[in-house]
Amino acid sequence: MSGKACRSCGAALTTSFVDLGGQPISNAFRAVEQLSSPELFYPLRAMVCADCKLVQLEDTPPRDAHFHADYIYFSSFSNSWLDHACAYATAMIERFHLDGASRVVEIASNDGYLLRNFNARGIPSLGVEPSANVAAAARAQGVETREAFFGAQTALAMVGDGLSADLMPANNVLAHVPDLNDFVAGFRILLKPSGVATFEFPHLLPLIRNVYFDTIYHEHYSYFSLLALLPLLQRQGLEAFDVEKHSTHGGSLRLFVAPAGSDRPKADAIAHLIAEEKAAGLDDLATYASFKDKTYSAKRAILSLLCDLKEKGHAIAAYGAPAKGNTLLNFIGAKTDFIDYTVDRNPNKQGLFLPGTAIPVLPVEALVERRPDYVLILPWNLAREIMHEQSALCASGSRFIIPLPRSHIV
Ligand SMILES: [Zn+2]
Repeated sequence: MSGKACRSCGAALTTSFVDLGGQPISNAFRAVEQLSSPELFYPLRAMVCADCKLVQLEDTPPRDAHFHADYIYFSSFSNSWLDHACAYATAMIERFHLDGASRVVEIASNDGYLLRNFNARGIPSLGVEPSANVAAAARAQGVETREAFFGAQTALAMVGDGLSADLMPANNVLAHVPDLNDFVAGFRILLKPSGVATFEFPHLLPLIRNVYFDTIYHEHYSYFSLLALLPLLQRQGLEAFDVEKHSTHGGSLRLFVAPAGSDRPKADAIAHLIAEEKAAGLDDLATYASFKDKTYSAKRAILSLLCDLKEKGHAIAAYGAPAKGNTLLNFIGAKTDFIDYTVDRNPNKQGLFLPGTAIPVLPVEALVERRPDYVLILPWNLAREIMHEQSALCASGSRFIIPLPRSHIV
């Protein structure tokens, strides 16, 4: 018993899903002068609700530990993600006939990388973003942005200002929300009766199937199956009418949601996905209870590969400094004893050190200069893009390590 209640339905949480040990906040990169001072670690454990099957963190660090002025994650640094955003805007404009009379309100709009696609087509947009410097970056590129945490109160204030929404994208934000019911209620308040919200989030099914334990981190409070999400929407007066699978983040869902009672036809994809989740045992607690042992087995496999390479005297670098990389490295306990350095395209991360492991972050060019024998790709979901970008390195003899789903060398 954890003594905690489910974030969605309120039932007591009794079943453990995973325990990744003590971990620092994955975006708490450190400067060189901080390396000799103590570092904060928080337990990273998840439970599953026996009633609604929502997987959720057991303990969460204080909210302001995540969102602060130094928040260094800017969306605009991955090409494949920018392409995904552009394709999203095109698809939504066509499907829902958006034009200059429509309004798009994006929740957690980051630096405006998505909304600028709507602006470019003359469709009015507004972003809602809690992080001050990220909101400022959005405004600097002409994306109107409200600095706020979204929920019922923010939505009511926006309605009070005469705003309403035809389309509300909420990409990769649902998992970050501490009060799910309040957050989802905000969509019901701000959406026009004919409006549509789209929620995009990493899908729990591939996480369990492929043991993507590294996609669990403190910033993500909840891990969703469609089975767990439908009752939450229903409770807040919303209903899902379609769902798409996307390859982003190792397997994501894009769920299309409308106010309850709307006349939108329900796509067969909803029933098909529910059937697939049930076939995979996502309605059975035993499926969740067996996950922890699978993470230990994955940890041993990655470590044994790294140990083998180090014993043979090879130099190993890493590519990327994503949140998932920090979960992975801290869980397996690999520091500069295994990984000499990592590289990242984001200049805000260069010159800093990874939280927990103190692995230095260098510019990407360092790979070609230093030519490591092996490069561990931390954002394995972008492995193809990265290996293509580094084809010259590959031609000079360096090889790549993909840590998950099964650790292997390419
Ligand atoms: Zn529940």
